Amino acid sequence: MPDTDPGVRVHLASRNAKKIAEMERILAEHVPGVTVLGLDDVEAYPEPVEDAPTFEGNALIKARAGVAATGLPTIADDSGLCVDALNGMPGVLSARWSGPPKDDDRNNRLLLDQLADVPDERRTAHFRCAVAVVRPDGHEHVAEGRMEGTVLREVRGEGGFGYDVLFVADDRPGLTTAELDPAEKDAVSHRGRALRELAPLLPDLLR
Ligand code: IMP
Repeated sequence: MPDTDPGVRVHLASRNAKKIAEMERILAEHVPGVTVLGLDDVEAYPEPVEDAPTFEGNALIKARAGVAATGLPTIADDSGLCVDALNGMPGVLSARWSGPPKDDDRNNRLLLDQLADVPDERRTAHFRCAVAVVRPDGHEHVAEGRMEGTVLREVRGEGGFGYDVLFVADDRPGLTTAELDPAEKDAVSHRGRALRELAPLLPDLLR
């Protein structure tokens, strides 16, 4: 385990409790003694518009805004589902694919409608996740992860969130990612992969 200053504090620019828990777990493993402050633990600041055309761009927008507001090194992620038959959409528009307010069930119904005429062999897709770390001195680092799979014709499973009920990962055939237990999903997921790529670099990035 690397030697790390026990006083390190990092801001995690997210309100998603599941994401925060997952990231905290991995951070604590690699940066012993780290204090993680979510959006609800810092003084409220205006959250930026995520209008970049890429996951990396949006993760950087969120992380830079976090540094500017808190003065702390900040981690932020952006993720989504890229469907081949839809030319990579919904992509960065995944959260609000069927329009505001964000509604996972409505998004899933719209995706099913859009793919109604697409045969099984062309229902390939992947999730992508970019995790950005930005330091107060301006240093930036981005890690990315992917999870390849296919989109089903009906929802299945109770776990996960978002499009998990429609997605079967190539690495876990037969079950949707909503039917995997969380550790099993972490092991193959886009977010798990991006975080595991980033984690060993964190002691240096957050020093
Ligand atoms: P954001 O990264 O919080 O902006 O989330 C983007 C959107 O992509 C989510 O609201 C979900 O619709 C979708 N998404 C991202 N990661 C996952 C996942 O692991 N499972 C299912 N849907 C996801």
